[in-house]
Amino acid sequence: MDKDQKRKELLLPEKNGYDRMDEAMARDVQVYAEEYVRFLNKGKTERACVSEAIRLAEAAGFRRYAAGMALNPGDRIYKERFGKSLMLAVIGQRPLSEGVRMTAAHVDCPRLDLKPNPLYEDAEMALLKTHYYGGIKKYQWMAIPLALRGVVYRADGSRVDVCIGDEPDDPVLVITDLLPHLAADQVKKTVSEAFPAEGLNALAGLVPDGDEGSDRVKLAVMELLNKRYGITEIDFRTAELSLVPAGSARDVGLDRSMLGGYGHDDRVCSFAGLRALIDLDAPLHTCAALLMDKEEIGSVGVTGMQSAFIDMFMRDICGDIPLRRVYENSFCLSGDVCNAFDPNFADVSDKRNNALMGWGVGIFKYTGSRGKGGASDASAETMGRIRRMLDAQNVFWQVGELGKVDKGGGGTVAAYIANRNIEVVDAGVPVLSMHAPFEIISKLDNYMMYKACQAVYTG
Ligand code: MN
Ligand code: MN
Repeated sequence: MDKDQKRKELLLPEKNGYDRMDEAMARDVQVYAEEYVRFLNKGKTERACVSEAIRLAEAAGFRRYAAGMALNPGDRIYKERFGKSLMLAVIGQRPLSEGVRMTAAHVDCPRLDLKPNPLYEDAEMALLKTHYYGGIKKYQWMAIPLALRGVVYRADGSRVDVCIGDEPDDPVLVITDLLPHLAADQVKKTVSEAFPAEGLNALAGLVPDGDEGSDRVKLAVMELLNKRYGITEIDFRTAELSLVPAGSARDVGLDRSMLGGYGHDDRVCSFAGLRALIDLDAPLHTCAALLMDKEEIGSVGVTGMQSAFIDMFMRDICGDIPLRRVYENSFCLSGDVCNAFDPNFADVSDKRNNALMGWGVGIFKYTGSRGKGGASDASAETMGRIRRMLDAQNVFWQVGELGKVDKGGGGTVAAYIANRNIEVVDAGVPVLSMHAPFEIISKLDNYMMYKACQAVYTG
C-alpha cells in the first residue's frame, strides 16, 4: 500500500460537504432551502408551526386521527395537543410489533413571553413586561424589532389570535438599550448583572388618551388592542402572548450558502422530520414524526416530550399489540440542532470533536454536561445502526460534541424517548449563534437532515 492509499484507507476522510456535492444535489439543496424558509416564516411560534405542519400534511392526504378509527397500511394520520405539539404517522406494511421508525424534534423556541399583568405606564410611555422563555442572552433581544404573537381567551371563552409585527406595514415593538455615552457603569458589570430580566420591558406607545387622569398612554394602548382584538386588560391573564423577532429568514453569505433566521432550533429538524414523512410512499414499517413543544424548558407540560400524550397516540395506533413491545422494537432519531464550530469563539470547542458548518448532519452519541450528565448516551450498537442507515442513502454526516468537556452543555428530547425503552440517537443541523434572534445554518446541512430522516424512515 503506498502512502496516499494508506492515508485514505486508515484515516478519517477529510472532505467537507461542498466537495462531495454534485450539481443535481446543489439544486435539491436550494429547492429544499426555499421550502424550509417558507415554513420558518409562517412558523414564528410553536402554535404557528403546528398549524402550518397540519396544513401541509392535510394537503398530502393526512387525516386527523379519531379514537377507534380503522387503520390500514398506507394510512396517513395525525393528532395534535392544544395546537402546540403534533404527532403524525404513516401506517406501514409490516405489523406494528416490528416497531415504529420515528423522528422527534421540537417546535418551541426561546422567546419573550408577556407576564400575566404586562401593560403599564412609566414616564408617559406604555410598556409591556416580559418573562423570558428558554435560555437566552438577554442583550441580544434589545434594540431589535419584535413581533407580538399568541392567543387570548376572553371571558366568554372566545379565542382571539394576536399577530402584530410580521406584515410589512405592521408596527413592531422594541426593548430599548442604553446609549454607549451613558454606559460607563453598565460596561463594567458582568453580562448577567448588566441586563436584568426585569429590564426587558417592550415599548408599546406614547400617545395619551385625553388630557386628564393617570395612565393615559396605557389606556390609549389598551383601547387600540380593544379595537383590533376586542380584549380588555383582564384578558391578558388568560392569554399566551410572546414577543418574537420580527421579519423573515434570508440567505446569508456572499455565496448564499447559509440561512439566517429566528427559530432554526429546532424548526429545522421539525420540518425535516415532517417533510420526509410527507414524502413517504407506502413504507415498510410504520413511521412517525413528533413535533414537540416545551423542549426549551425541560420537555415538561402536557405538550412536552414527557407527556403521556405521545403514549396515548401510539397506543391508539398499536391496536391489540402491547405498546411496550412496539417501543422495544422502535428506532428514533432525536433531531435537534447542535453547535457549529465558530472561529470567533474557538476556545469553547474541541475542534476535533465539534460539528462543522457544511459537513452534513451532526450525529451525537451523547449530549448532557459535566460528564454526560442528563444525556441519553447511545450505545455503539445504535451508533452502528444509524451509520449504516445514513451511509446506505449517501447522507453526509459528521459527529459532534456540545463544546469542550466542562465548558457547559445541554440536553434534548432523547432522554425522554429513551425512558420509554425506544432506541434513540441524537442528530441535527449545526447552528451558529444558537438561541440568538438570528441563527445561522448551512443549506447543505439543512438538506442532509431531511435525507437523514428519510433514511431512518426507510432504512
Ligand atoms: Mn433544540
Ligand atoms: Mn435550544
